[in-house]
Amino acid sequence: MKKYNFNAGPSILPQSVIEQCISDIRDFRGNGLSVLEISHRAKYYEAVIEEAEANLRFLADIPDDYSIFFMGGGASTQFYLIPYNFMGSRAGYVDTGVWAHKAFQEAQRVGDAVLVATSEDKGYTYFPKGYEIPKGLDYLHITTNNTIYGTELHTDMDCPVPLVADMSSDILSRPMDISKYAMIYGGAQKNMGPAGAAFVIIRNDFMERGDKKLPKMMQYREHAANHSMYNTPPVFTIYAINEMLKWMRAEGGVREMYSRNKKKAALLYDEIDRNSKFRGVVEREDRSLMNITFVMAPGFEEQSDAFLSLCNEKGIVGVKGHRSVGGFRVSMYNALPIGHTEYLVDIMREFEKA
Ligand SMILES: *Cc1c(COP(=O)(O)O)cnc(C)c1O
Repeated sequence: MKKYNFNAGPSILPQSVIEQCISDIRDFRGNGLSVLEISHRAKYYEAVIEEAEANLRFLADIPDDYSIFFMGGGASTQFYLIPYNFMGSRAGYVDTGVWAHKAFQEAQRVGDAVLVATSEDKGYTYFPKGYEIPKGLDYLHITTNNTIYGTELHTDMDCPVPLVADMSSDILSRPMDISKYAMIYGGAQKNMGPAGAAFVIIRNDFMERGDKKLPKMMQYREHAANHSMYNTPPVFTIYAINEMLKWMRAEGGVREMYSRNKKKAALLYDEIDRNSKFRGVVEREDRSLMNITFVMAPGFEEQSDAFLSLCNEKGIVGVKGHRSVGGFRVSMYNALPIGHTEYLVDIMREFEKA
């Protein structure tokens, strides 16, 4: 039986995308070779990279003066590439959880990284607001969706210095004003495809500020100029990302994804607020549409394992909270059908009555 997949990442893909991958693993677009064994220099693969770039540009409404490319190494490689490329004197970081903190720590190893705001005081259960951004920073780094804690920045903020955003878990989840950002990046394995690649969306004038003395593999301009093929890229992952992007376009694009995501999140948050056995943990206005965190309500703490076993019995996977915070976390990325959310809500109701 196919499970109900609420994993945080790697995470659910549409079944039709999985079927297409299987078919192209057998014979890639009628070329007589598997997508697993083709040359990345083949004309028909260059077409895949071009399609993936074009589909991402269309879906996220990315202006022409931005480059788009894919790289290996996940989001975590970006954590150090960004300061190496762009930290001339000083960069600012907003600490909103484990990933944001890791990005900050990596930058501290490279140079003068300063903490501009943090929500650590309340266990990262809110998104800092109204903080002052020091002048003269080379960039400000934010994490727009905190996958582990379930907080999300729902707007594209104005920033007096170049804004760099880790959007690993909320890219393509809502319409965004890309022009507010100097750079957006993330691991593909949450909302964009399987694991194995990071996506980078970067304004060209910002990219050109990058340190030219770095090894070429570390310079964004090399990856942009070579259209993700400075070296052998994660061929299969980029192919699968393109299939995922094609699926999103066919389903109605980001506007449609956003409307579905709001519906799914409302269903689950309403149930958490209504159900006497559960309780939400983050500030209402900062609740993530992608990763929904909750705990047992006071008095029901000892039923946590019972709920997890019920989920397991019913074919639901990925609802256990991250090891660093406990409780429950349900990830509902674009590919998750609303029927799966409804199914989970039914199980929560059944659990309340039991
Ligand atoms: C998952 C995640 C990461 C880490 O991504 P890797 O590709 O494993 O390096 C970084 N930031 C955020 C917001 C994430 O959700």
